[in-house]
Amino acid sequence: MIRAEGLSKVYMSGGQPLRVLDRVDLHVEAESFVAVVGPSGSGKTTLLGLLAGLDEPTEGTVTVAGENLQTLTEDGRARFRAENVGFVFQTFHLLPTLTALENVMVPMELRDRASQENGRTIREKARALLERVGLEDRAAHYPAQLSGGEQQRVALARAFANEPRILFADEPTGNLDRKTGHRVVELMEELNQELKTTLVLVTHDLDLAAHAHRTISLEDGRIVSDETNRGGSEREAAK
Ligand code: ADP
Ligand code: MG
Repeated sequence: MIRAEGLSKVYMSGGQPLRVLDRVDLHVEAESFVAVVGPSGSGKTTLLGLLAGLDEPTEGTVTVAGENLQTLTEDGRARFRAENVGFVFQTFHLLPTLTALENVMVPMELRDRASQENGRTIREKARALLERVGLEDRAAHYPAQLSGGEQQRVALARAFANEPRILFADEPTGNLDRKTGHRVVELMEELNQELKTTLVLVTHDLDLAAHAHRTISLEDGRIVSDETNRGGSEREAAK
């Protein structure tokens, strides 16, 4: 599903090149759940941005679902993201002036400039997504009226709105307490299984990473280990 070859990112910092990703090769299989771990500054967010087509590598290529992202224009990559990719961030990124329901509707409206009829369908779909994350009774709440865990569940519902093939989550539990964080990752895991969404989760919490089928560790911009998780693979086998 995702293939990175010789992926490097070099920033110029005070006139000096700073190599934050160093010739990373990586293959993520369709429908799998992969965790990327590593210390702060090891390049996790940079890697995610490149795999998602948000950013361009200094060297190397990323191919997603057969599409070489480096051959697309910036507009082409934006279209590609809208059609294939969902995101969840540490700080939720909900629009503060929209309700929970309206936040979930946004990506569908952007994709599908709504007629009256579509508007109704989109609202129904958004309602079903909120129900799926257990927030049907919070649909009319604004983000400021929701707890951190609830905001992240809204963000998750929004990320799934266009039925993405891949969900990228960058430290999605970083602002949540432990229990709430686990609940959010369990929810991602369920959605991965039900909807067959490929899931790439960045976290520095090894307990959370254990939910994944596979854990990739980054240090100083390089992959230093790549392991299949027994818990994850046993769950897979048990299906
Ligand atoms: P992580 O997500 O693992 O904490 P990042 O990918 O955010 O790491 O960053 C890796 C390194 O790249 C850090 O040392 C960071 O300071 C540096 N970096 C990230 N973005 C930029 C940028 N736009 N310009 C210069 N350096 C950057
Ligand atoms: Mg980061």
